[in-house]
Parts: sequence; structure tokens; C-alpha cells
Amino acid sequence: MSKKVLIVGGVAGGASAAARLRRLDEDAHIVMFERDPYISFANCGLPYYIGGSIQDRSKLLVQTPEAMHKRFNIDVRIQSEVVSIDPVNKKVRVESIEKGSYEESYDALILSPGAKPIRPNLPGIESSKIHMLRNIPDTDKVKAKVAAEGTRSAVVIGGGFIGVEMAENLREAGLEVSLIEAGPQILAPFDTEMSSILAKELDEHGVNLIFSDMVQGFAEVGEQIQVQLASGTVLQSDMVLLAIGVSPDTSFLKDSGLEFGPRGHIVVNERMETNLDQVYAVGDAVEVVDFVNGTKTAIPLAGPANKQGRIAADNVSGLGTTYKGSQGTSIIKVFGVTGASTGNNEKTLQRLGLPYHVIYIHPSSHATYYPGATPISMKLIFDPKGTVLGAQAVGYSGVDKRIDDIATVIRFRGTVTDLTELELSYAPPYSSAKDPVNMAGFAAENILQGLTTVFVPKDLEGRDKNNTILVDVRSEIEHANGHIEGSINIPVDDLRGRLNELDPSKEIWVYC
Ligand code: FAD
Repeated sequence: MSKKVLIVGGVAGGASAAARLRRLDEDAHIVMFERDPYISFANCGLPYYIGGSIQDRSKLLVQTPEAMHKRFNIDVRIQSEVVSIDPVNKKVRVESIEKGSYEESYDALILSPGAKPIRPNLPGIESSKIHMLRNIPDTDKVKAKVAAEGTRSAVVIGGGFIGVEMAENLREAGLEVSLIEAGPQILAPFDTEMSSILAKELDEHGVNLIFSDMVQGFAEVGEQIQVQLASGTVLQSDMVLLAIGVSPDTSFLKDSGLEFGPRGHIVVNERMETNLDQVYAVGDAVEVVDFVNGTKTAIPLAGPANKQGRIAADNVSGLGTTYKGSQGTSIIKVFGVTGASTGNNEKTLQRLGLPYHVIYIHPSSHATYYPGATPISMKLIFDPKGTVLGAQAVGYSGVDKRIDDIATVIRFRGTVTDLTELELSYAPPYSSAKDPVNMAGFAAENILQGLTTVFVPKDLEGRDKNNTILVDVRSEIEHANGHIEGSINIPVDDLRGRLNELDPSKEIWVYC
């Protein structure tokens, strides 16, 4: 008898699961429920449609219910919300705009309900001038508001990926934009010094950045809305985009007997099985293992959701595929700059009390003699045995492939020596004979082998100025253009001949 599989959620994880299931089992009866009118749309493209880089709305609709039915024979039911599940009798209850309320039975159930934007309970939060961005209907509203006559300004609340992408795209759409972030930095996967480069790019493109300030309430004033901050600052604009994070969209499951983690994520094992018989869960709604440090975490990204959907389908079909954890590899475009990161950052390692070393390098994206080379700021984090724990990079080009190389090494639990040994593609327009990833490995190995001792920016605060000398070995022009206070300049090419200028009884700190 053919197996009946129900899927809740028709976008990243749900649609991946459905397609994989069909490829594995031509006879299965697969029903996919989606609360909204659209399935399998490009969530990640929504900000770029609002900003105008993606012009054609239909490009956001990667699949339609009709096409999915035609190609995969999936019974797609849109505007159909699953409101509860009954794991004892293996049934779900559905509220459908077309069919009303009904029950549907299952042999296996895959939950991929995703995560919803957090809407804090603040005064004035119900204003229609406050928007959030999760799906196509939200996008249509924001796009219409941006295009409306008289819309000139926006306040974005939250400096995460969606907040920053929206700040950029609202600016691209011609609005005056302020971005408010409660913490001291934007983009939490990066450490502060790396994210500050991305913040500078926002600032240089006219985004008014406000850090370390909390929104306390909203008030409509005529056609505009005021945003009141804890500091007393009041911002007034035509619209607000609220993007302070997401929480698992699992309230319909609360009485199901499912096990949840501390922040409401569904607990699953590595086969994406929940604690309930034949109930699987994937995507933004589930708790995962941090691949680097082994703790439980939740990482709402499209890559993990798609892979987990595929793995759940494999297990429904009897293939024992497993999901081994998420490492949070992510990337963002901020106007002309790209930032990418993978693995653990310093903040995470400090919180967990894990030992690590850090190196920074600033290689060029490709051979400097070939036109167009630009610098990349790279940070590599590794443990005392050399295992790579994380990396972050910011630059104009070539950032993505460097972080992806390092992400791959992390996946194989590789070391800094592995980075030195990677044989990467090279011709002058693309890289250098020693790729930046190799260079990061060399610099890290030098530390582990005791060949160099490094200081990082935060060590400057504790520098004993009486017993150390800070030497800037860049050119005179570079030094004149800006340098660390208290440093003396001896260009590297002159250093050997000018060593007598340095007091050998003092520790010499060199930087470039
Ligand atoms: P979703 O894709 O959110 O799908 C869940 C679906 O389930 C929803 O459509 C919802 O309506 C439906 N649903 C929920 N409950 C029910 C119910 N009870 N009954 C029926 N249907 C239900 N990730 C990246 O890696 N890179 C990016 O650049 C990126 N950009 C993003 C930009 C935006 C604006 C957004 C919103 C997200 C972005 N993401 C990005 C995150 C990525 O989209 C998510 O990680 C991914 O979509 C999660 O997949 P999912 O299947 O868990 O949930």
C-alpha cells in the first residue's frame, strides 16, 4: 500500500522534502499544506525585489502549486493551515479557505513551519505603518508602501541580516533610512571589529546608524510614525521595518506532545525525527547541534533548512541519512562590500570558555599586478591544536570563495595546516599563487610553531607604553594617512638599516 506523507509548510524545508520524497517513492501520496497563497518562493530574494535589483515579481515564485503538481505529483494545498496534530491517531486538523475545517490522516508527517518575525509587545506596535518581512504578502505591502507617493523615509529596527539587507534596499529605493540596533554592533555572526567595516559601508551610503539603543514604543503622527528610543531620541518616518529576529512558528503544536527546546524549537535527532512516532521536523523551527562546539543552537538559514528537508524525506523512505549539525556559514552584501563568516566567532568561544587563537590578514583578492585587485580583511580562529573553529572576511570581491573554502575545511574538522596545503585554482585575475586561504594557514601555523607572537587590537589597551615600542612598518604616506596613536614609523624596507633606532631592552610590537 502506498505511504501517505503530510508536509506542513511549503517553502524551503517543506518543498525540498516533497521533491525528494517523490524522487525516492513514485507511489507515495504526498500532501503539502501551506497557510499562505504561495509555495516555494524565494524568501532570500524579497529584500532585493523591494530595492529593485530583482524587477520581475514572478521571479520570486520559484514553484507554483500547479507546476509542483505537474512535475512531482504533489497534492499542494495552499491557504490551508494545519492548526493541530493528533499523534496518537496520526491525524492533523486543517483550516482551509476553500474547504473549511477537516482532518487528514498520515503515515508520516514532516513539519517545516519555519520561524516568524518577533513582534515585541510595545506601545503602538499595532500601527499599520510597522512592517515585517517574511513572505510574499508582506513583500507586496512593503513594496507598495515604498512606491507610494509621499514615502520618503524608513526606520529599520534590528541590525541582523534582514534588517541590514532592508536598510540597503530601502536606501536603493531612494528612501532616507535609519537603522536602530539594540546591541553595540550589527550582524551578530561577525565579531565587532569585522562588522564595523560593514557598518562603515552603511554609514558611507547614508544609512543613519544608531547603536545600543532600545525601541520603547511607537506613535502615529498624521501620515507618519514616531519611534521612541530608550535614550530619549525620537525618530519620525513614513514607515518602520521591524526585523529584530525570528522565533519558531510552532504555536499550533503546543498541545501535541512534541518535545521543545528552551526557546520553543522542536527537538529532533540527527535523522530529523521528533519524539513522536513518524513525525519529523526541519528548518528554522528546529534545534540543531552547533557543528563546531557541539552545543544545541538554532540557526535560521536556507541551506540547513533545504538539506534537512531532504534528509527527513530520506528517512521517511528508509534511507538512514543524517544531519550532523549547522556551522552557520553565511554571507551578506552591504552595498559594495561583502561580508561572510563560518563556524564560531570569538564571542561564542568566550561564552563557552573555549581556548582559541586569532589571526588577521589583509591579502588582495587576486594578484596585485592584474587590474582590479582589492583587499580582503580576513580573520581566522583556531584552537591550540590547530583545528579551525571559524573565519570571517570582509572585502569587495573573492570573499565568498575564501569563506567557503574554510567552511569546507571546518566540515572535515581540518586544521590550519590543511589550509596551508589546499591546492586552489589560480590565475592572476582570480587569486595569487599563495591564495588568501593558504596565507591565513601560514600565519596561523607560525603562531602554533612559536615562530611569531601576535597582538590583536584589543591588546593595545593593555600595552605597557614604557616597556614596549609600537612600530608601524608601512610606508611614510600610509603612516601619514592614519596610524595607531603612539606608534613610530619605520617602513619595512628600511627596517634592517634602522634597527639602531629601536631600544633593544624594550619589547617591540610591529604592525602594518
Ligand atoms: P519557511 O521557508 O519560512 O517556510 C515555512 C512555511 O510554513 C511558511 O510559508 C509558512 O506560511 C508555513 N506554515 C507555518 N505554519 C504553518 C501551518 N501551521 N500550516 C501550514 N503552513 C504553515 N537564509 C539564507 O540562508 N540566506 C539568505 O540570504 C536569507 N535571506 C532571507 C531573507 C528574508 C527576507 C527572510 C524572511 C529569510 C531569509 N533567509 C535567508 C532565511 C531562510 O529563508 C529560512 O532559513 C528558510 O526559508 C527556512 O525554511 P523553513 O522551511 O524552515 O521555513
